[in-house]
Amino acid sequence: MLVLMGPPGVGKGTQAAMLEAELGLPQVSTGDLLRSARRDGSEIGSLAGEYMDAGRLVPDELVVALIKRRLERSDAQQGAILDGFPRTVDQAEALQTMLAEQNRQVDKAVLLTVKEEAVVSRILGRLTCGSCSSVFHVKTNRPRIDGICDSCGDKLESRTDDNAEAIRTRLATYRASTEPVVGFYRSQGLLREVDGGQTVDEVFQGLQGALKH
Ligand code: AMP
Repeated sequence: MLVLMGPPGVGKGTQAAMLEAELGLPQVSTGDLLRSARRDGSEIGSLAGEYMDAGRLVPDELVVALIKRRLERSDAQQGAILDGFPRTVDQAEALQTMLAEQNRQVDKAVLLTVKEEAVVSRILGRLTCGSCSSVFHVKTNRPRIDGICDSCGDKLESRTDDNAEAIRTRLATYRASTEPVVGFYRSQGLLREVDGGQTVDEVFQGLQGALKH
């Protein structure tokens, strides 16, 4: 099991999708799972919505239940690329227990690093596909046709939490709750770091290198 970490907007989703194609393991993003639960109008989705729009973390029990169910599916039996989970030390511990029960483990956690100023402009220009979760950017990664997803042809939108106020909260939440998870994996010798401020292809090369040792 591979964990991809880093602040909002660092490019976890983009890199996880590329790794999915490279490694043949599914990308499992709790953000995508929660957004799709909201679209389906499920109970988890409506409980999570308010936290998400405010840029706060959805309660651990909800997210852990969601990920447990996802990792039980057949396509995740050989492993998965976790994108946006765990985001708290309690989630990291719950993941460890859940995996140990199935004789599995986290093999590596890769931290994508970037300067905070850079992530704000990345997030403010971000366009996301509501159907397949592909991510584009108005300047640095434009879709072939304006407003249309290259992958599935559906409409691209800005996420409801990609606004200046929610971004500030998300960055503060990252520092307070998620940075300690970096220390959790570092102390287990599982942490690798890659400079996420480079181009998409350079980051991907760095990631592939980091996974080799
Ligand atoms: P993301 O798509 O990873 O940026 O996540 C969007 C939002 O979903 C976050 O700001 C949180 O509100 C919620 N979320 C996603 N993953 C988690 C998680 N592991 N724990 C708690 N909340 C999460």
